[in-house]
Amino acid sequence: MAAKKIAVIGAGVLGLAVARSLALKGAEVTVFERGDIGAGTSTTTFAWINSNGKSPESYHRLNALAIDEHVRLQRESTTEGRWLLETGTWEWATNSDDRRRLNARANELIAAGYPARQFSPEELQRHIPELHLVSQEADRWYFPGECLVTPGVFLAWLTSELRAHNVELNTHRAVVALQENDHGATIHLADGSAWHGDSIVIAAGRWSAELAAMLGQQLAMIDTSRPNKIACGFLATTTPVLTQLRSNLITPGLNIRPEGGGRLLLQATDLDVSADPARPPEPGDSVGEEMLKRLRRVMDNMASARIERIVVGQRSRPADGLPGLGYISSRRRVYLMVTHSGMTLAPLVGRVCADEIVDDERSALLDDFSPQRLLGKRAEDFPAFPTQHYPAAQ
Ligand SMILES: Cc1cc2nc3c(=O)[nH]c(=O)nc-3n(C[C@H](O)[C@H](O)[C@H](O)COP(=O)(O)OP(=O)(O)OC[C@H]3O[C@@H](n4cnc5c(N)ncnc54)[C@H](O)[C@@H]3O)c2cc1C
Repeated sequence: MAAKKIAVIGAGVLGLAVARSLALKGAEVTVFERGDIGAGTSTTTFAWINSNGKSPESYHRLNALAIDEHVRLQRESTTEGRWLLETGTWEWATNSDDRRRLNARANELIAAGYPARQFSPEELQRHIPELHLVSQEADRWYFPGECLVTPGVFLAWLTSELRAHNVELNTHRAVVALQENDHGATIHLADGSAWHGDSIVIAAGRWSAELAAMLGQQLAMIDTSRPNKIACGFLATTTPVLTQLRSNLITPGLNIRPEGGGRLLLQATDLDVSADPARPPEPGDSVGEEMLKRLRRVMDNMASARIERIVVGQRSRPADGLPGLGYISSRRRVYLMVTHSGMTLAPLVGRVCADEIVDDERSALLDDFSPQRLLGKRAEDFPAFPTQHYPAAQ
C-alpha cells in the first residue's frame, strides 16, 4: 500500500512531535511553518513538565503519562542533546489560603498515585545553599517526578529526528487556504504554490482558529491579543548569577527555574494582569524590577542580578482550557491538535494522534478531548476558566 501523504501546519513542539511520529509510522510527511522553527509559543514558555493541579482526572492522567513519555524518549535518544532536566519541583506556601490549597492539592495528587512528599527547610538548603531558609511556618512539598524542558534543545532534537526520517520541513511558507474533498486535501501557500495529499494536521498553536476558519469552521479559543492573565504572561530572564539551582521552585509570589549559563527564568503570575502583547515591557521596567525584588527575598547572591530579557508569552488555549485533539471535518481529512501544556504533552499526544491519523485507531486517552465541543462556538460561550485549580505557574 502507498504511504499516506500528510502535511503538518506549524513547527512548534506539537507540529514537530506529530510529524516525527507520523514519519515513524511510514507516512510521507511535509511540514509548513510560516516563520522559523519555534516561532510561536514554544520558545516563550516556562516549560515545567508536570501534571500538578490539572483537572479533570482524564487531563491529569494524560499529563502524568506524558511525563513518562518525555523520560522514555530522552533515555532512548542517542544524541548529545538533553532537553529534559529530571530535577523535580520544590513548592512552598506561607499564607493560610495558599497553604490550605497546596496541602489539598498535594494530598489529592498522592491519592492519584502522583509522587509527592513534604520536605524540611534544611533539606532544601542542603540542595540549594543560596536559598534563604524557608520558614518553618510554611507548608512545603516536593514533587520528585516533575521535570523542566529546555525548549531550544527539545526543538533541535525534534528537528534532527525529522531530518533523519526524511520529513520535508519548510520554514517561511505560510498557509493561506485549505480545501478537502472525497479524494484528498489541498494546502495553498502564500507564495502561490499548493500541496496535495491525503490528510492535513493543524498544529498552529494560538493561530488554530485562523486555520479552522479556512475550512469554514469556528473554533473557540481564548483571545491572546489583549491583556488577560489566563491568556498572556510575563517571562523574565536574568543576567548570569551565582547559583547552583537546577530544579524548579514554586515560591510565594515567584516561580524560578534555571535558564542556562547561570541565568534564571522568572514568572510572577499575579503581575500578569498587565501583560499586553502589544506593549511588551523593557528589561528595566517595573515588572522586571518587582520580580528581582522578590528574587532577592528568596535567594542570596542576587544583588547584582539584572533582567536581561522580558517577554509576554501568549498561550494557545482552547476556551475551556482542555486540549482539542481530533478531526474537525466530516470527511476526516483535517485533524486539529491544539493545547495548553503543550511542552508537557507534545511527545505523548504526537504519538497517539499519529496512531489515529495513520491507523484510524483513536486512543481512549483522547476520549474527553474531541475538538467537536469547541466547533461553532466562541470563547464567550464557555464559563470563565477555573484558574484556581492550577498552581502558580504554567
Ligand atoms: C507564559 C507561558 C508559560 C507556559 N508554561 C508552560 C509549562 O510550564 N508547561 C507546559 O507544558 N506548557 C507551558 N506553556 C504552554 C506551551 O508552551 C504551549 O502549549 C506549546 O508551546 C504550544 O506548542 P504548539 O506547537 O501547539 O504551538 P506554537 O509553538 O505556537 O507553534 C505553532 C506554529 O504554527 C505556526 N503557524 C501559525 N499559523 C500558520 C500558518 N498560517 N502557516 C504556517 N504556519 C503557521 C506558527 O508560526 C508557530 O510556529 C506555557 C505557555 C506560556 C505562554
